[in-house]
Amino acid sequence: MRNTGSSVTVVGAGVVGIACAVHLLRDGHRVTIVDRAAPGEACSYGNAGVLASYACLPVSYPGLAWSVPGMLFRRDGALRIRWRYWPTLIPWLAMFLRAGRMDRMQASARALSFLVTGSLEQHRELARGTGVEHLLQPAPLVYAYADERALAKGMQSWNWRRPYGVAPRVVRGAELRELEPALSSRLGCAVVIDDCGYTTNPSKLVKGLAEYAQRQGATLLAREVLDMHPQPNGGMRLATDDGDILADKVVIAAGAWSAKLAARCGDRFPLEAERGYHVVLRNPGVEPRTIVGSATGKFLATPMEEGLRLAGTSEFAGLDAPPDYRRAEVLRRQARDLFPDANVDDYSQWMGQRPSLPDSLPVIGRARRHASLYYAFGHQHVGLTSAPRTGRLIADLIAGRAPNIDLAPYRADRFQR
Ligand SMILES: Cc1cc2nc3c(=O)[nH]c(=O)nc-3n(C[C@H](O)[C@H](O)[C@H](O)COP(=O)(O)OP(=O)(O)OC[C@H]3O[C@@H](n4cnc5c(N)ncnc54)[C@H](O)[C@@H]3O)c2cc1C
Repeated sequence: MRNTGSSVTVVGAGVVGIACAVHLLRDGHRVTIVDRAAPGEACSYGNAGVLASYACLPVSYPGLAWSVPGMLFRRDGALRIRWRYWPTLIPWLAMFLRAGRMDRMQASARALSFLVTGSLEQHRELARGTGVEHLLQPAPLVYAYADERALAKGMQSWNWRRPYGVAPRVVRGAELRELEPALSSRLGCAVVIDDCGYTTNPSKLVKGLAEYAQRQGATLLAREVLDMHPQPNGGMRLATDDGDILADKVVIAAGAWSAKLAARCGDRFPLEAERGYHVVLRNPGVEPRTIVGSATGKFLATPMEEGLRLAGTSEFAGLDAPPDYRRAEVLRRQARDLFPDANVDDYSQWMGQRPSLPDSLPVIGRARRHASLYYAFGHQHVGLTSAPRTGRLIADLIAGRAPNIDLAPYRADRFQR
């Protein structure tokens, strides 16, 4: 590989950090990756694995406020806010609901669509020659609705995506059964998105890419970054729990923990840990052919190496609160709504923290005050999907190449007053 002589340290070995590292290596930089844990062990471990080319709508959209009470107060609702956390969350929630105005939603959708469109192809490109290409599969998403009424209600959110190239197709009855024989016959209709894909093991994918990065010369350090100090020569000194690291350039890709580090350099971000859960049915007894979504439960079911993974739900409780596995129990209970014959007795559970900003867009760009510091975080529900594009954009910025899109929607100063 070419070597430009510039040293770049990436903080965070989740899917976003590792995608940045691989693109930077391919550009010829000397790359160091720092993470207190092994690659792909935080949020990138337990996601639904879906390369969601359709996921260009921000989480907040017009009319969402009306459905929030239903999601919050129903026993099996997809949203929870811990009582003690309400006062902390209110300013974020206000920004989040404002981001759902039609004009803002459309602006965010345009920006998100650039990051998610063609995700499977971009992942294949990223994984080429790494040895983990086989973990990527093409497959349609079958998003199932209880009945025609529910479909009619849900159709608006699919129609909002059409201007950005998403082509939802409705299937019913026998056609639906043929597409996914394992699906409950009680579910009458579904929206199908054909150009999707998934990984059969999200954590293994990240670990495989990280091993490839090391084979290409990257250094992987198991350390916690505690502080950052700009240097007179324009570089950065990272203080860690095991000594200092000097770098010409630094990329913060530390997921839900990124705002803590950015604050050390004077940038404040309203970054929330939007917690999600998964249940893996280890011997599900059913073999779905494809990715199935539940419109009622708002979760995804993905056939994976280790079993059938049901992943979703949103919980706000702060970064440090312990998991509440009753949220995962909700998913386990709802598994049989999709797959009536599923064996739900042999399972594992997990909680992860999505890095979520109120406008649902990540920060991809240079820090306000330090030319050697770059941000790549805040990918909320689509970090796996959008990691390859994010890595490419960060590599473009560091190389001084003009990216082929306007980066203004992702800029770091959009929350600063
Ligand atoms: C239930 C659920 C389902 C999901 N499903 C999907 C899906 O189907 N498709 C999709 O695209 N996305 C999905 N997501 C979202 C996706 O998983 C995240 O957006 C993505 O994993 C974020 O990746 P990341 O690299 O930014 O963060 P992470 O994977 O969290 O990585 C951040 C890393 O930074 C490290 N770190 C933090 N602070 C420090 C420090 N000070 N020093 C050293 N290291 C540090 C952490 O140890 C961690 O390894 C889902 C999320 C959840 C919770």
